[in-house]
Amino acid sequence: MNPADERAHTLRRIRDSLQELVADGIDYLPRPAKRAPVPASTGFRPRVAPLAAPTQQSDAASGNALQLAAIRADLGDCRRCGLCEKRKEIVFGEGAADARVVFIGEGPGEEEDKSGRPFVGRAGELLTKMIEAVGWRREDVYICNIVKCRPPGNRDPLPDEVETCRPFLERQIRAIAPLAIVTLGKPAISTLLGRTVAITKLRGQWQEFQGIPVLPTYHPAYLLRNYTRETRQAVWDDLRAVRERVEGTRAP
Ligand code: URA
Repeated sequence: MNPADERAHTLRRIRDSLQELVADGIDYLPRPAKRAPVPASTGFRPRVAPLAAPTQQSDAASGNALQLAAIRADLGDCRRCGLCEKRKEIVFGEGAADARVVFIGEGPGEEEDKSGRPFVGRAGELLTKMIEAVGWRREDVYICNIVKCRPPGNRDPLPDEVETCRPFLERQIRAIAPLAIVTLGKPAISTLLGRTVAITKLRGQWQEFQGIPVLPTYHPAYLLRNYTRETRQAVWDDLRAVRERVEGTRAP
């Protein structure tokens, strides 16, 4: 079996198992408690938070992970919009199924399209540094995009592409139930709010999506193009505000 068939087979099996649970009258998977807060950083330099104990982590994440697997299975080998024509890999999202913070970007770029993983190119490297600078590890958060397939030439996703993908994004958010969402760039915050907004106006101001606090910040690709003291300070301030909101502690 080739890797794509194998993955499709695994996803079908997960969906079948979930359908069996539903047929047996189980229509609810308990939501685990969020993991204990990571202690505040005390040093000046970025630090990396310790891993939760593996058993604690897997127990805590299992209900959400099952739901995410079911959503991925429903997405299948998606051909719901034109983006499927040119994409190589679907980029569903990755990270902790019980993440306290979800980061949402715009859509996969070239590297992501090749690898099937979100934010692995240059913008992704910067995003990872930003996450670590605030005291977290990349694998402790969840990272995804508003569209799961690469828009050709890295153009902005079109409204119909965003709308077609939206139910999957919304289900991912509900499955994870994070304490906060960070949107990266204009398309992501515009999608969550359902209206076109100016990122320069909204950046750093708390919004809300289905009861979850949302902080819009600049997209790391924008930061790479405008790598000034002001833009870096703005994103740093935003991530510190998110950390303070979810943990009640301030990064240094
Ligand atoms: N830019 C995005 O918005 N998402 C990615 O996954 C990569 C780059």
